[in-house]
Amino acid sequence: MFLRELLESGIIFLENHGIKEPRRNAEIILSHILNKPCYYIYTENLPVSPTIITAYNKILKERGKHIPLQYLLKTVNFYGYNFFIEEGVFIPRPETEILIEKAVEIYKRCLTSLSRIKILDIGTGSGNIAISLLREIKTCYAIATDISENAIKIANYNAKTNRVKSRIKFLQTDIFPPRINKFHMILSNPPYIPNFEISSLDREVGREPITALAGGDDGLNIIKKIIERADMFLYSNGFLLMEIGDKQGKDIKKMRSSLDLLTIEKDFAGIERIAVFHKK
Ligand code: GLN
Repeated sequence: MFLRELLESGIIFLENHGIKEPRRNAEIILSHILNKPCYYIYTENLPVSPTIITAYNKILKERGKHIPLQYLLKTVNFYGYNFFIEEGVFIPRPETEILIEKAVEIYKRCLTSLSRIKILDIGTGSGNIAISLLREIKTCYAIATDISENAIKIANYNAKTNRVKSRIKFLQTDIFPPRINKFHMILSNPPYIPNFEISSLDREVGREPITALAGGDDGLNIIKKIIERADMFLYSNGFLLMEIGDKQGKDIKKMRSSLDLLTIEKDFAGIERIAVFHKK
């Protein structure tokens, strides 16, 4: 069998199992197994070994059961860095990269005079937010919390592979650290989906941990707690950057807080996505 034939057979298989973007999925799976870029499949139509065929079909079969691609390949690229991912931890999303972009911008504009920047990442999941920021800003030190033991384990591993282990401390706890500590920036992509929407989510999103998704009746439970308590954990001239859900922008603007809401950045789809607060 030749490479192209193998690709096409996978596309048909995924199509028959109702997977969206079957070609893209089959290309990514095959290029992952070959350890070659996607275009290689189209430029080098070589015969394939039985080992490759078996490995490809194994992943296809799982993908056909609607297990997210990232859980099968066990890796995600976020802000140009690689993160290990497996079932039990939230899959980093591209829109969250805007949060990193904003944090880097704030650092460059307001915090470069400091020799040590302290950040807090709430609900770190795979560690993608804190770790990316540590890689971007060499003077940055982080504390990252998550309620899930599984997430902490994975985030720890990602800190090691991204070589920032010495600049980050993980705490398995709910939302804020138990002891009050001051930070220059607090970052979070909290669970913000209203409970009633959980059952109607795409079946693939439904495979992600519920604690990383559900934000109570109106989706704002955790967001409110973060906004209420952030002040205590921020230095003056500190910032809170938080991802929010579709249509939550208007609720955020109405919330009373001792922090000033500076802006809500829109994502690529034009949805208000990243709320930025400032402590005077
Ligand atoms: N901080 C992680 C991310 O943005 C996990 C977020 C979460 O679990 N809600 O990907």
